[in-house]
Amino acid sequence: MIPEAARCVKCGLCLAVCPTYQLSACETMSPRGRITLVQALAQGQFAADDYSHEVLGSCLLCRRCEAVCPSAVPFGMLMDRGRELVRSRQRWRERLAIALLSRRFWVRLLSRIGKTLLPGSAPMGKMAAQARFDAPELEQTYRPGSTETIGRVALFTGCTGSLFDSAALEGAVALLLQAGYEVQIPQSQVCCGALDAHGGNAARASRLLSVNKAAFASMGELEAVVSIASGCGAQLAGYSVLGEKHLDIGTFLAQEQVISRLHFSPLAKRAVVHIPCTLENVLHGAEAVLQLLERIPGLQIEEAGKRGACCGAGGTAFLLRPDLANSLRQPFTQQIGELSPDYVLSSNISCRLHLQAAAGAIEAKYMHPVTLLAQQLIRD
Ligand code: SF4
Ligand code: SF4
Repeated sequence: MIPEAARCVKCGLCLAVCPTYQLSACETMSPRGRITLVQALAQGQFAADDYSHEVLGSCLLCRRCEAVCPSAVPFGMLMDRGRELVRSRQRWRERLAIALLSRRFWVRLLSRIGKTLLPGSAPMGKMAAQARFDAPELEQTYRPGSTETIGRVALFTGCTGSLFDSAALEGAVALLLQAGYEVQIPQSQVCCGALDAHGGNAARASRLLSVNKAAFASMGELEAVVSIASGCGAQLAGYSVLGEKHLDIGTFLAQEQVISRLHFSPLAKRAVVHIPCTLENVLHGAEAVLQLLERIPGLQIEEAGKRGACCGAGGTAFLLRPDLANSLRQPFTQQIGELSPDYVLSSNISCRLHLQAAAGAIEAKYMHPVTLLAQQLIRD
């Protein structure tokens, strides 16, 4: 018996916000249906089979259900547990994808192959084209130049951050230095473990989190550990490995003592801001990101889609369940097309790649919000 699953009172409030229930109108594909299934699997009333694997595997892990649940059922944790229970039914394709994508070496190699061999028009080719192999290695320590040092923070870079979002990492360092923070980037940090946890490999996820805990503990006294991608941030926050010190980059920068030290040059452009479900439902960092962007004079900001809704990139859906992922992306891409912005900003790398893969004729630049903030930052 899982005590956390027993907290579900079956009220059904979560059904209205669950994208897989909305698409299927099937109770099994709802949050409470999945909770019931996980409990039945844990109690041995039900054996793992292909259908139970599909029911749990098709959850996008957007955790919108968790955000509205009056009983505070920890849905993310229950889904990881459930996927561990049905892992024996995982298809080789899914197991391989998770194993490769959570290892820096393989991600680099596959991206290089994809960039060379896949046509730029194919969705995976578009994603591989975003990889930047010439990004300079980040140093372990950055100290503010002319400004006084007001604190020390560490940066969580993630396993694919330096390859797919090096501009956001460099931008975060620039913003933190300008605000007066020394930035530590532990070289021994590894993948956050989200892919393994969501793929049912709890043992590896736990090992990765222990390595990260030791890596950040070795940095000495820190004001915060700051993560860039909200998907990684949700994993780090959920397991309390980094304690209360972990914050999303937007939430850290939006604190009064930090934001008051940052100034931006005007930009007369339009930006569509996509708030990832992990940023809204787990990290509660949406307002901070919008508040920061509003500091850029002249920038017109529109929010994409319904806040907290998944764009289809959740979990591994954008790789393994393209039909589901594409149908959830459609309202977002339609809105982006209608607004025809200069920038599309998203705090999560997989959401951004997923949205960008459907960009079509849209000329917008896709980036992390901190990349745009760093671009407009007035530096000493
Ligand atoms: S809202 Fe919470 S308590 Fe109600 S059915 Fe959904 S998970 Fe269960
Ligand atoms: S995490 Fe998202 S997709 Fe999964 S059950 Fe909850 S609302 Fe539905």
